[in-house]
Amino acid sequence: MQSIDKYNFAGKKAFVRVDFNVPLGENFNITDDTRIRAALPTLKKILSDGGSVIIGSHLGRPKGVDEKFSLKHIVNHVSELLGVPVQFAEDCMKAGEQAAALKPGEVLLLENLRFYAEEEGKPRGLAEDATDEEKKAAKAAIKESQKEFTKTLASYADCYVNDAFGTAHRAHASTALIAEYFDTNDKMFGYLMGKEVDAVNKVMKDIQRPFTAIMGGSKVSSKIEIIENLLSKVDNLIITGGMTYTFTKAKGGKIGDSIVEDDKLELALNLIEKAKELGVNLVLAVDAKIADSFSNDAKTEFVPVDQIPDGWQGLDIGPETEKMFVEVIKASKTILWNGPTGVFEFDNFSHGSQSVGEAIAEATKNGAFSLVGGGDSVACVNKFGLADQVSYVSTGGGALLEAIEGKVLPGIAAIEK
Ligand code: AMP
Repeated sequence: MQSIDKYNFAGKKAFVRVDFNVPLGENFNITDDTRIRAALPTLKKILSDGGSVIIGSHLGRPKGVDEKFSLKHIVNHVSELLGVPVQFAEDCMKAGEQAAALKPGEVLLLENLRFYAEEEGKPRGLAEDATDEEKKAAKAAIKESQKEFTKTLASYADCYVNDAFGTAHRAHASTALIAEYFDTNDKMFGYLMGKEVDAVNKVMKDIQRPFTAIMGGSKVSSKIEIIENLLSKVDNLIITGGMTYTFTKAKGGKIGDSIVEDDKLELALNLIEKAKELGVNLVLAVDAKIADSFSNDAKTEFVPVDQIPDGWQGLDIGPETEKMFVEVIKASKTILWNGPTGVFEFDNFSHGSQSVGEAIAEATKNGAFSLVGGGDSVACVNKFGLADQVSYVSTGGGALLEAIEGKVLPGIAAIEK
């Protein structure tokens, strides 16, 4: 596989797929430019080698051309961050001349690739009452026109760099299909993508033991596949957050008004059984911080997790549980954290999540590898100022979760094959 570090971009045009799907404010100002900054090392390496760059990205979920989702809003900021002027192609399918005219060190940003349905390869504008036949025909038509779309994008460049981990789980034109048009030696991961892939490999393949995964968040249903996949890999599995109460109820405990998925009780028991069979230490809460309403200012108490009175709900772990979790985490050599231990958005129920974050930071200081990712745990480490004390904070929510589920990510496979 080609590596960006070894590749000399001098005189070459690189198509770089980035994830510039940044949040925009009322006046289309960028409210958080983390994603743009994350791609800078890749873009700068190409430019400093003497290459030129054609940047492709999506922004939001447009259903066609839509001013609100135009990447023209970010041109100036990208230019400021890169320190070079950035040209803009208003139609990503009509950028051939602009791309051909690029000189070494120059940058062309393409308009939102998702203005074309071909990027995602899904038909748009189908009537609600469309028959199955019509749906099938529309799908076949878009798959056909997607080939032309992909080929056109590929024709702009000599090499392809994928630095968009956030969309690596999508088999879209610019994230995966385009790779076919380049020789193995001319396609590669960007630096960000490379770091993400390495981090995932450290928790999925080259595991240092003991390996502890901390799965929190609200619902078992959204994490089943991850939990099942992790069971065959981890030494310790901490299941926490709102999921706690489905497990507690399944075991016959009293959970009051805590969040629960009644249709997942049997599944919870199966997971407990499976953990036993596989010799995995499944760590569940023994006590909870309960509240008399879903509010930061609610009255609170600490009780055994299986003795929550009616009218009360568990919103965080209790001190005994915290001690257990911290002990397991500190003794680990590989740690994966996805999801808070409670409603961390309320300060009065964030203690458990903070302690978990701090324990991970300490383990990391002592040589463990820690990966934090998938939605709310990233917000957690940021809230507690711990982002630079863990080994890696993933930028890819859905992509990271699918990788941990054990799925092959098309964006990664397209480069690796
Ligand atoms: P998820 O998106 O599934 O990772 O869930 C994250 C959300 O779960 C956060 O917004 C938390 O506030 C919420 N959460 C965690 N613990 C609880 C709980 N005990 N009751 C209700 N919500 C919770």
